[in-house]
Amino acid sequence: MCGIVGYIGPKEVVPLIVEGLRRLEYRGYDSAGIAVAGSAQNPSLLEVRRAPGKLGNLEKVLLERPLHGTYGIGHTRWATHGRPTEENAHPHRDSSGSLVVVHNGIVENYLLLKQQLMARGHRFASETDTEIIAHLIEDELEIARHNAADTNGTDATTTAANTAEAIVVSPPSSIPLEEAVRRAVKRLSGAFAIGVLSAREPDKLVAARSGPPAVIGIGEGEYFLASDVPGILHHTRDIVFLNDGEVAVLTRSGVLFTDFEGAPHQRTPQRITWDPIQAEKAGYKHFMLKEINEQPRAVRDTTLGRVSLDSGRVYLPDLHISQSFLQQAATMTIAACGTSWHAGLAGKFMIERLARLPVDVDYASEYRYRDPIPGALGLLITQSGETADTIAAQLEMISKGTPTLAICNVVGSAITRKAQGVITTNAGPEIGVASTKAFTAQLAALFTLALYLGQERGFVTETQSRHYVDELARIPQKLEDTLRSVDDQCAHLAKEFSTARDFLFLGRGIHYPIALEGALKLKEISYIHAEGYPAGEMKHGPNALIDETLPVACIATKDPADPASVLKYEKTLSNIQEVTARSGRVIAIATEGDTEIQQLVEHTIHIPAAPELLLPMLEVVPLQLLAYHIAVKRGCDVDQPRNLAKSVTVE
Ligand code: GLU
Repeated sequence: MCGIVGYIGPKEVVPLIVEGLRRLEYRGYDSAGIAVAGSAQNPSLLEVRRAPGKLGNLEKVLLERPLHGTYGIGHTRWATHGRPTEENAHPHRDSSGSLVVVHNGIVENYLLLKQQLMARGHRFASETDTEIIAHLIEDELEIARHNAADTNGTDATTTAANTAEAIVVSPPSSIPLEEAVRRAVKRLSGAFAIGVLSAREPDKLVAARSGPPAVIGIGEGEYFLASDVPGILHHTRDIVFLNDGEVAVLTRSGVLFTDFEGAPHQRTPQRITWDPIQAEKAGYKHFMLKEINEQPRAVRDTTLGRVSLDSGRVYLPDLHISQSFLQQAATMTIAACGTSWHAGLAGKFMIERLARLPVDVDYASEYRYRDPIPGALGLLITQSGETADTIAAQLEMISKGTPTLAICNVVGSAITRKAQGVITTNAGPEIGVASTKAFTAQLAALFTLALYLGQERGFVTETQSRHYVDELARIPQKLEDTLRSVDDQCAHLAKEFSTARDFLFLGRGIHYPIALEGALKLKEISYIHAEGYPAGEMKHGPNALIDETLPVACIATKDPADPASVLKYEKTLSNIQEVTARSGRVIAIATEGDTEIQQLVEHTIHIPAAPELLLPMLEVVPLQLLAYHIAVKRGCDVDQPRNLAKSVTVE
């Protein structure tokens, strides 16, 4: 999810890689490292330096123990598996120490592979999923070496244990590094963009991609690898965007592309004309728009590896709360702020429905004033893990003996360090102040938690679990479809409604928190006054606001297979009619195929069908896009709205 920069050519590689990583800093990261080879004194020496924290820490290490060379790879890590420590920083080594890997993404089957490799004698030095990849490649080289030895009648085994930073070279395998990489990546499931170097095969850098982006830069007698264009744009504008399922082999004489089977691919570089700032946004006008479009990946990465499609089981290994506690728990208290609080409100519906556990949702800043009664299970939801109000609520919970869980986007952050159990949302760094992809990832995490609690407490059958897991796995594709189908319509609506003074957002049940989130997005970035309301509450007051100038966005989706959802939908239709009868201008968010609602309202935005508890992840997309396009139309600073900060570290 974070930064990779690789280089092979005539130049001194360390400053070039560090500078490239710095240009990718906007993506956020928590540790950094570099592997370098090809120095004039010792061309086959491959050395590694790593440091937790910012690039400045790595630079300090490099000042104390300098590295020289003309090819190498660097990485800024955004931790998903294991804390942000030096041991977990990339590059990671195989057991011989002669091969290094940097990786962006998540290896979904890493636990299974780790067990298999440990049984074959591999020892691991980090908590990461990434280290598996180095050992898998080593394993493939060993297998090939053994097979060749069997054929030649010689024993060519070499496994010199080496954990030092400087690496000893052992004899080459019978297959080249790129073939071992191809064989290894075929054993991985999950998402990866990787860079690999081996001291046994000097002057070669291998890259492979399945999921997270990777680009290859073509210079004059020099070649580059990066996780994103800005990392290398100041050196070359001739870029090949590596496709999913492709491997690139960079040597001093050029770059060869193949698929995972080794079949050559002909790739022609594209000339990039973006300016560097535009490049950071991957061509999008704003980070917020980029992040809205990253939601399919955020949800996929948050659920990846945590659910089994075969058994319907949910696995949350970092929860650290015993089954007996979960079975006996009488209530859950969720504390969060802003968008995370809305996720918590939606989570309440999920947890109460699937796990039959009563849930209270508090503003974190208000929690302590309740003089909370001990005995509940606490859940903190936070993007950054550093929100002061949420930390205060967590401390209050802990002081009352309430065990706390955290749903958080930043591994190793303050709240995750104090929590007994953690579910990380793997949304990747979020730059736009108005949260989008972190929110959908929180909803995905809450759904997996609700299903897990339902399973542990015995309220969800295996058939129901399989159905839910199957539907959850379809959400990323449905998000892609939604993004594609609603963007133009939202841009069009923005033209019509950008001059509105006020806006209402309505919903019932689990859709009400999404109405609140739609209103918050609009307030945050367009500065239009907006309110979210439970649709049924309108007649108890807010109907007085309605006139022909008031836009009312109303969430009126339904799951036809769920009678409770249909009932809710019908009541919402009545509320919509109450608005239109008073000349209010309704924008309905409805389920695809719903033509009935189109007869009643001025505008209908359709989203794909899904079980009711999963619909919020889809419903929020048009509301985010509507807010975004209105803010752009009004000339607002979308990524840095006035008076707001991304991580709110004061109470
Ligand atoms: N999953 C890997 C880790 O936690 C890679 C994270 C990244 O993309 O930076 O180390």
